[in-house]
Amino acid sequence: MTREEKNHWGWGWQDHFGDPDQRRALGEMARAMLSVEPGPVREPVAIDDVELPPSKIAIVDSMKDWISDGDTDRIRHTYGRSFPEIWRGFHGKFDGAPDLVARPRNEQDLCELMDWAATESIAIVPYGGGTSVVGGVTAESVDRFAGWISVDLGNFDEIGPVDPVNRTVRIGAGAFGPAIEETLGAQGLTLRHFPQSFEFSTLGGWLATRAGGHFATNYTRIDHLVESIRLISPSGPWSTPQMPSTGAGPDPKQLVLGSEGILGFITSAVMRVRPRPVYRSKADVHFDDLSDAIDACRHIAQAHLFPANCRLLDRHEAVLNGVVTSPTNILLLGFESADKPVTTLLEQALEIATDCGGTCPKGPRHRDSSADDKDAAGRWKSAFFEAPYLQSRLASVGVIADTFETCIGWSEFSDFYTDLKQTLTAKMDAVGGGHLTLRFTHVYPDGPAPYFTFVVAPDRDEILDVWRDIRFSAADVIARHGATITHHHAVGRLHRPWYEAERSPLFLEALRGIKERVDPEKILNPGVLIADR
Ligand SMILES: Cc1cc2nc3c(=O)[nH]c(=O)nc-3n(C[C@H](O)[C@H](O)[C@H](O)COP(=O)(O)OP(=O)(O)OC[C@H]3O[C@@H](n4cnc5c(N)ncnc54)[C@H](O)[C@@H]3O)c2cc1C
Repeated sequence: MTREEKNHWGWGWQDHFGDPDQRRALGEMARAMLSVEPGPVREPVAIDDVELPPSKIAIVDSMKDWISDGDTDRIRHTYGRSFPEIWRGFHGKFDGAPDLVARPRNEQDLCELMDWAATESIAIVPYGGGTSVVGGVTAESVDRFAGWISVDLGNFDEIGPVDPVNRTVRIGAGAFGPAIEETLGAQGLTLRHFPQSFEFSTLGGWLATRAGGHFATNYTRIDHLVESIRLISPSGPWSTPQMPSTGAGPDPKQLVLGSEGILGFITSAVMRVRPRPVYRSKADVHFDDLSDAIDACRHIAQAHLFPANCRLLDRHEAVLNGVVTSPTNILLLGFESADKPVTTLLEQALEIATDCGGTCPKGPRHRDSSADDKDAAGRWKSAFFEAPYLQSRLASVGVIADTFETCIGWSEFSDFYTDLKQTLTAKMDAVGGGHLTLRFTHVYPDGPAPYFTFVVAPDRDEILDVWRDIRFSAADVIARHGATITHHHAVGRLHRPWYEAERSPLFLEALRGIKERVDPEKILNPGVLIADR
C-alpha cells in the first residue's frame, strides 16, 4: 500500500472521497431524513495547506535514516479515525501532531529508540494502521514530556513461511489485512479475521486492541487465532511460549493481547490459519417484531450451531444500508466450511428463526463457491465496507454519523436498550432530531454484542460538543446496565473512565504495577488504558 494515496484526515483512499455534487446529494438526503435544512458542502483543508507547530525534538544522527520530522509524515500520524479526529483533520487542525515519526527497521532500532526516549523523557505512541476510534494513536498529557514520537510499525510486515502441519504462520505486526489474506490465499489458506477496518489496519493493531472480526460466533476475536506473541518492552523482550495450549499459570499472552501499546511493541505473532471455506449456505429472515428477532438470535447462539453470520439489523439499519427496500428487521444467517456442506446447520438455524416468528421469503441458498453479492447479505457486505467512506463524506456536509458498541447479557438487553433509546433520543431531539439504529455484530450463548449508529446534524459550531454529549451519555447508560464499554473498539483514551469503572481497583493497581516494571519511565502510550499520573 502506498500511504501517500491515503486520505490524510478521513477514511481510506483519497480518490474515494467523492466529488462535491455527490456529497451535496448525500447531505440533502441525510438532512431530509433528519428534517433540517441542508448546509453548504465544504472542502477539506489540503495537506499542503496545513500549518504545523515546529517539531520540539532534534533527530539524533544514529537514527536519521528511519526517523522523520517532515510535515507530511507528522500530519499523517497525528490522528486515528474517531469522529472528532476526522472533524479536526478535515478542518486542517493538526496542532497536536507528533514531533517525529519513526519507522524502525528491526527490533534493535526499537530498543535504541526506547532507550533514547526514556533518557530524554519523550512519549512514544505505537502506530499500526491508525484506524483507532478511541484516541489510541494520538498523544495526551504530553506536557510532562519533551515531545512525542509516533512509531510506525510498517517495516515489520514479513509474512510466513506457513507450517503446513501445525497450520501456523509467523506474521509481522505491521502487515495489513489485505497483504495477509493475499499471501495466505495463494496457499489456499486464510486467517479469517475481517474487521470492518480490515483494509487499513494491521495485525499488530488487531492484537493490541483485541479486535473483533465480522464473523458472528466462534473464532472471531483475534485472541482465538493467536498461538504466541512477541513484544519488545523498554525493559526487554516478552515472548510467550509457542504451544497449542497450556495450563501453566496465568497466561502471559493474555496480558499482551489488549495491552494497546502501554507495555511495549508487538513485533510479530504466530497465528493459526485454516483452509479457505468452500461450502456456504445462507438465508435472510424477516421479522416484524424486533424482540422476536432477538429471541431467534439467542436461541441460535444457545443451540451452538456457530453460524459465521448471525447479523441482526433493525429496520432502520436495514434501510439505511440498502439491504431492504421496505422497512423490516432482518437476520442475515450464514454458515461456511472448508470441507463439508453446511446445509443441515442452516436448516436447523432457520427452523429456530421461523419458530420465533421469522419468515424467509427467498428460502435458503446453498453455494459451493464465493458469495453471491446481489442478495441481502451481499448488499450488506458492500454497505459494510462503504460505511466508513460515507462517514467522512457526511462530515464534509456537517453531519455526524458515528457508531459505538458494547456486549451485555440477554436478560439485561431489553432494559438497557430502552434506556439507551430514551436517553439518546432526548439528546438528539435537543439539537433538531436524529436517528439511532441497532445491529448485533456478534452473538454469544449468554448475550449479544449490540452495535449502534447515530446520525445527527447539529449546528456546525457545536458539533464536537454534541458528539461528546451523545457519546458520553451512551457510555453512561452502558455502564449503568453493567455492559462493557467496548466489545471490540478498544479502550484507548476515549473509553478510559468507563474502563476504570468496569475493572476492580486492585486489578488496575496490578496493571499499573506491571506497566511500571516493564516501562519504568512510563513513556509508552501515556493516557491509554490507565491514567498517566
Ligand atoms: C471504520 C472503522 C471500522 C472498524 N471496525 C472494527 C471492527 O470491525 N473490529 C474491531 O475490532 N475494530 C474495528 N475498528 C477499530 C480499529 O480498526 C481496530 O482497533 C484495529 O485493531 C486497529 O488496528 P490498527 O492497525 O489501525 O491500529 P492503530 O489504530 O494504529 O493502533 C491501535 C492501538 O494499538 C496500538 N498499537 C498498534 N500497533 C501496535 C503494536 N504493533 N504494538 C503495540 N501496540 C500497538 C496503538 O498505539 C493504539 O493504541 C474500526 C475502526 C474504523 C475506523
